[in-house]
Amino acid sequence: TVRTRIAPSPTGDPHVGTAYIALFNLCFARQHGGQFILRIEDTDRARSTAESEQMILDSLRWLGLEWDEGPDVGGPHGPYRQSERGDIYAEYARQLIASGHAFKCYRTSEELDELREARKAAGMHLALKPADLALAEEEVARREREGWPYVVRMQVPASGTCVVEDMLRGSIEVDWAQVDAQILLKSDGMPTYHLANVVDDHLMGITHVLRGEEWINSAPKHQLLYEYFGWPMPTLCHMPLLRNEDGSKLSKRKNPTSINYFRRMGFLPQAVTNFLGRMGWSMPDEREKFTLDEMMSHFDLQRVSLGGPVFDRQKLSWLNGLYIREDLDDDAFLQALRDWAFNEDYVRQILPQVRPRVETLSDVMPLAGHFFSGLPAIEEGDFDKVKLGREDLVKLLQFLVWRLEVVPAWHKEALLAEVKALSAHFELKMKDFLAPVFVAITGSSSSTSVMDAMAILGSDMTRARLRHAIA
Ligand code: ATP
Ligand code: GLU
Repeated sequence: TVRTRIAPSPTGDPHVGTAYIALFNLCFARQHGGQFILRIEDTDRARSTAESEQMILDSLRWLGLEWDEGPDVGGPHGPYRQSERGDIYAEYARQLIASGHAFKCYRTSEELDELREARKAAGMHLALKPADLALAEEEVARREREGWPYVVRMQVPASGTCVVEDMLRGSIEVDWAQVDAQILLKSDGMPTYHLANVVDDHLMGITHVLRGEEWINSAPKHQLLYEYFGWPMPTLCHMPLLRNEDGSKLSKRKNPTSINYFRRMGFLPQAVTNFLGRMGWSMPDEREKFTLDEMMSHFDLQRVSLGGPVFDRQKLSWLNGLYIREDLDDDAFLQALRDWAFNEDYVRQILPQVRPRVETLSDVMPLAGHFFSGLPAIEEGDFDKVKLGREDLVKLLQFLVWRLEVVPAWHKEALLAEVKALSAHFELKMKDFLAPVFVAITGSSSSTSVMDAMAILGSDMTRARLRHAIA
């Protein structure tokens, strides 16, 4: 049976690109009566977090992309979190060393830099091959005896051509000379993506790997690993990456890419899923609006077009409007509002913000509107009261966005610490520092506390508004 998977790394916000790849894997599996698996690739221990993993699971589920096996639902091939499978990878690395397909490499990082410099100077390709890395036998023995740290690297052919088959792209040819002796196990014993990915796809019975085209360069190494292990290789399909309207790769540095952002903006999950289904794919009858079930039953991978699909935000808004008008009766509309922000949990957080500032209940909405809106319309004059030139203002808000991107936990104290540090950096009083932030977040110069507003609005909406104000 067909088995596909999505294998996100929990290192940040849940990306719409992850949902897009998940959607196509799910549809491909369902169309063939197969299974769809979710595996967490968290071997990068420094960057992986439990919060990010939870957000990925929550947001994929919000979109209706349900998996048959995964870290939260279990299944016969677990554990489904790579950090819990360390012994498995170590064992397979040992096997590769024993069969001569991998070797311990005791090279220091200084030596590696020197090797690379020497190759560069000689105008040679930068890939480091096993022969470049080799040390005299006595030297290896000495370093081993003295307990130097080492990594495990795979053997790769010195020359020749590697041919990888791709379902959409046909034969992809890569020169072996460009492929380096990839590290499989790091010096801390953790596997790299390549080893863990191949071992898990095999052990989890994955038959088809649909993933972003950014992984094409890894395919020769993976193919070689399957050969070394003597395992059948899953069929590969590299999907086109999502693009901005200007054709560049969709990137969080230009526009929000977090699923949480779209959720907070009040997009309906069925509209977002439909929209992602339109990325490089169309229904046989070309209709724009279709449900996930309809996509699953009409899915045909060969209808994926490789021209970079443009993530057209206006189109998404238009489609979302169609769903609201055509699919939601009053009850469903009301429910959607409740799911979004008109619920007790959310409104309760706002009460302490408005209580000291109102006389009648009818004062609440004008004061708290920014808790229920998207990106405020900012006009030139709005920043007039801020005692900063345009250039400084842009710099201040941009710096703040960057710092907020990496705050480990989103709560008021942590945000305050960031704001304090930055206002000191800009040599501004907190009040003056916060003035432009206030305008960007609330869309006005008098409202509720801006620090609380940021804490309540959450990371995605806060950053989107700050960025929007200087766009
Ligand atoms: P950037 O930082 O430029 O936004 P990235 O690749 O660093 O992009 P990550 O947060 O590392 O972004 O990506 C998370 C997931 O989203 C990865 O699985 C990646 O494959 C996927 N992804 C990122 N950008 C795209 C894209 N343009 N199209 C499809 N998937 C993408
Ligand atoms: N962990 C990789 C990612 O974050 C998985 C790539 C693959 O599907 O092989 O995208």
